[in-house]
This record gives sequence, C-alpha cells and structure tokens, in this order.
Amino acid sequence: MEIIEHLRVELDLSNVSFTTWIKPLKVYKVVDNTVYILVNMNASIDYIEKKYMLHLKVAIAEITGTEFDIIFIAEDDDRLGDIDETSSKPAEKKKTKSAAEKAGLNPKYTFDTFVVGNNNNFAHAASVAVAESPGEVYNPLFLYGGVGLGKTHLMHSIAHYILDINPKKKVLYATSESFTNELIASLKNSKETSMADFRDKYRNIDVLLIDDIQFLIGKESTQEEFFHTFNHLHTLGKQIIISSDRPPKDIETLEARLRTRFEWGLIADISSPDYETRMAILQKKIELDHLEKYNIPNDVLQYIASNVKTNIRELEGSLNKLIALYKLEQYKKEINISLAAEALKDIISSENNRAVTPELILDIVSEHFGVSIADLKSKKKNAEIALPRQIFMYLCRTMTDTPLKSIGLMLGGKDHSTINHGVNKIASEIKKDETLNNTVDIIKKKINPV
Ligand code: ADP
Ligand code: MG
Repeated sequence: MEIIEHLRVELDLSNVSFTTWIKPLKVYKVVDNTVYILVNMNASIDYIEKKYMLHLKVAIAEITGTEFDIIFIAEDDDRLGDIDETSSKPAEKKKTKSAAEKAGLNPKYTFDTFVVGNNNNFAHAASVAVAESPGEVYNPLFLYGGVGLGKTHLMHSIAHYILDINPKKKVLYATSESFTNELIASLKNSKETSMADFRDKYRNIDVLLIDDIQFLIGKESTQEEFFHTFNHLHTLGKQIIISSDRPPKDIETLEARLRTRFEWGLIADISSPDYETRMAILQKKIELDHLEKYNIPNDVLQYIASNVKTNIRELEGSLNKLIALYKLEQYKKEINISLAAEALKDIISSENNRAVTPELILDIVSEHFGVSIADLKSKKKNAEIALPRQIFMYLCRTMTDTPLKSIGLMLGGKDHSTINHGVNKIASEIKKDETLNNTVDIIKKKINPV
C-alpha cells in the first residue's frame, strides 16, 4: 500500500493513470527475494511491466532497503497455487527464528555484517566478549559514539549471538524511549498489576540492552526506575548493555549514582570510520545487497568514501541513492562520478553544515517513526501517518522560522490553516499527554543534540 502511494508521488502520475494502472495492483505474496503482484484481469500485464516495473522496483528498494524481483501475475493464473506452496516453507523457517524476532531484533544487524575498522575494533571486541560470556566479563558494557556509527547494529549483534547459542535466554532490547513510555503508561494506569507487569518485563530477564540512554536523562522518575532495574539485574549477575551518544561523564544531567554504576563495567567508544573502513563498508554492502551486477567503478566508490565521512547510515544511503538514480535514468547514463555527485548533493551539504532546516526535521521525523517521506507528504489520514506529520509541523514551526505556507508546500501543498491546526494540536496535546511529550522531546534532541 505504502509502495503504491509512494509511486504516485514519485512518478507524479495523473489521477487517471494512477487509478487505472497502479491502484488496482495488489501485493500477493513475498517469497524470498520476489514480490508477486496481482494484476486485475482487465489490465494488460505487458503494458504495466514495460511502463512501471522499473519504478516499482526502485520504490520497493527505497522503502524496504532491499532489492526484490517482481513477477506480475493475473488473478486467474494457475501459478497462484504453486506460489502458495513454495511460500509455506519460509513460513516454517520463521518459527524457529522467533526468539530473535520476539526480541525485536533487526535480522540484518549481526556480527557477520559488521565491518571491523580502527574506529570500532575495541567496541567490537568488547561486544563479542560480552556476547560469548554474558554477565561474566564486562558488566555493564557501555557503548558510545555519534549518530549512525553502528551502536544499534552492535547491540543487535550481541543479542542475536546470545540467542543463536541459547534461544531460551531472555534477551530484551529496548530503546530508552520505549522504556520511558512504558513506564509512564504503567504509572498512569492505576491498577497495581500494571507496574508489576512493567517490573516483570524488565527484571525477569538475562540480558537487557537499552539503546540511546541519553534520551532517558533529565527525567527523574525514569532514572529512578532505571536505577532500580539496573541494580536488580546487576546483583543477579545479569548482563546489561547500554548505548549513548556520549560517555557517562559528559551526560550532564545524569544522576551521579547512575554514572558510577555505568563506570563499573567497560566503556567503549565508536568513532568515525577512516577512509579504508568506509571503503570496506561500501564493499560489504555491495556484497550483502547483491549489487555486484551494477559494476560500480572503483573511482565512484572512492568518491563516495572520500565525501561521506561522519555517518555510516549516510554512507549506505549514498549508495542506495546512486543506484536509484541510475535505474531511473539508465538509458542515458552510466554509473560515473558525475552521477555520484548528483546522488551525494544533499548528503554532502548536510554533513558539512547541520543547520536545523525543515528538510532535516522531515528526515528525522520520518526515520524516528519509520514512516516514509512520501507518506508524510501524502493526504493519508490514518493516525500512524497523521501524528508524525503534525509533529513535523509543530517542530518546524517551533525550531525554525519557516512560514506556515512553506511548511504546507513541503507537505505536498497543504493550506496554511491545516498547518496551523496541526501545530496548535501538538502544542496543546503535549501539555496533557506525557508520553507524547516525551516522544517530541526525544525527536527534538535528535534534531539538535546538545
Ligand atoms: P547508531 O545506532 O550508532 O546511530 P546504527 O547502528 O543504526 O548507528 O548504524 C547505522 C547504519 O550503518 C546501519 O545500517 C548499520 O548497519 C550501518 N553500520 C554501522 N556501522 C557499521 C559497520 N561497522 N559495518 C557495517 N555496517 C555498519
Ligand atoms: Mg542507534
């Protein structure tokens, strides 16, 4: 669904072509690396294939970050039965994986996919040691480093490793945002069982991973609860792993007693990767995402690695963008430095000067909620999209001096009263709704980390 809406925005299709060709398409099944798309009997598969296949592929790759093959099938095609059969196998496989899935882990974030370089070798070695002997070596393990440098990836790797060896281990990965919001919710709920449930969830485990602890600070009751959770687990010899964007000593509002606790274990930093590591990460991504077929020339990779220096997410994003551009214009262009320069345009300027701009806010809101920018710009009214959109309006208005009209234009042409309404709505809701207030606060810190 999201893909289809994305296509409409991306291709700027007239309403007629959209309703005729794209809208009736349904994703039938996803089997391994293939998406089967069901085509309505009245439509011509040939035509759709010729005209939209490429765009669909790009849209799917952009949204999911993975490349899929697409097969169009007619509604009355008798291959449908076969697809059902083959797809029942991966479903079974899934069941055995559920320990990692249950823990909310990204299957891509493992030690196997993590490139070790001089910027992270210490943090990596410490993580492996903890994964091999949880609770026995460094407790807590405190990982710190800037945005997009691999903290979350390492934490998930530890959790995967522990669960692979022993799926029965109770491993809990949580962001400090979810820790805080769950705590707020259980405090608000007057039933006594609710707080007991919260404690049960966070204390009755073998390994606790809390990501981005910097967002937990400055909130007294949350820190207090976390302190007790920490002590409880630590006394029992349970492993605790924490990440942050800075070391404990630089978290100003961190309570002294928590700081001391964090310093009990091992503190390991991840810094920006050097050039060789950046090249190695690009090569690894080519291998993992099967991008060899594009034969990206070495000088293009070198160009990307020399220009995107401080954020590995952006390094990967540059490669995705390059390939998306290439596909859209593949009849005209080859992959060369000038195409790479075009792909990197926005990224380089944002690396060098991270001013708070509406574009930056839009990116961060989109990433935080996992909602695509196309959706934020769309007219969709469901809450999962409307709320992030209004939060964007509010942040844009309070953190920059962008006029309502320009915010409306950024959101695909909404009028200024809609924007005004959104801004006011969030402004008043955050006074009443503590969870929302916490979330908005965290996004603000992501935009402007100080
Ligand atoms: P952080 O949590 O520090 O902000 P992430 O762990 O989310 O950063 O990493 C951002 C992206 O960069 C992820 O897609 C991750 O897989 C990738 N990445 C980071 N470090 C490495 C590495 N050393 N090797 C491979 N990929 C990496
Ligand atoms: Mg992270």
